[in-house]
Amino acid sequence: MTSLTLWADLTEMTALICTRWNLPTITLEAWNRGKAPRCFGEAHVRERPPKIRLRLHCYGRPRRPLAESTIWATLAHELGHFVPGAFHHGPAHREATLAIAHWLRQNGKSVDTRLNI
Ligand SMILES: [Zn+2]
Repeated sequence: MTSLTLWADLTEMTALICTRWNLPTITLEAWNRGKAPRCFGEAHVRERPPKIRLRLHCYGRPRRPLAESTIWATLAHELGHFVPGAFHHGPAHREATLAIAHWLRQNGKSVDTRLNI
């Protein structure tokens, strides 16, 4: 179940990660639709301001929230695209994503890295 404070938590953690990883300020945007059931977010690395779109509900079911651990994993994955040298999917992106997921776990978030890393 998605908590009422989830969006504030996502925004706060994103700002902290941007500072810690020396990333630009990244705006989060709720994504009302996805391209496919397994597509949970999008990283707009070259847009100004840079942004991440996160889907918060099940594909095609806007009243059914995704598990928070799925949303946190998606945030880690999308933030991984902003890490220098890790833009494209591959070992560097995976390493960046896992480091961010690890940091989120250390800060009390449940991150399901089985899904999309
Ligand atoms: Zn990706």
